[in-house]
Amino acid sequence: MDGWEEREKVMAKITTKEHQAYMPGSQGPFRCDHCEYFSGTNRCNNKKIVAYAINHKFGLELESAGFAKVDPAGCSDEFKKK
Ligand code: SF4
Repeated sequence: MDGWEEREKVMAKITTKEHQAYMPGSQGPFRCDHCEYFSGTNRCNNKKIVAYAINHKFGLELESAGFAKVDPAGCSDEFKKK
């Protein structure tokens, strides 16, 4: 099973009430590191996720200017398969 299939399986089990735009690996298995927006060891440059990090939403923080600090095993609604 690839990262995309794993993500879809887990997402399908999450109810709307429990769902949040970004989820850490502890709620996975997810695969930020299979996403087009992932770089380095923990950086996401998706504008929406960076905006969440600036506003400290969903437990996100900035890694550096223009990058949110994400868990390689996390995921978000902005996932885009590489
Ligand atoms: S899945 Fe979401 S948080 Fe993770 S790298 Fe992709 S856009 Fe960023």
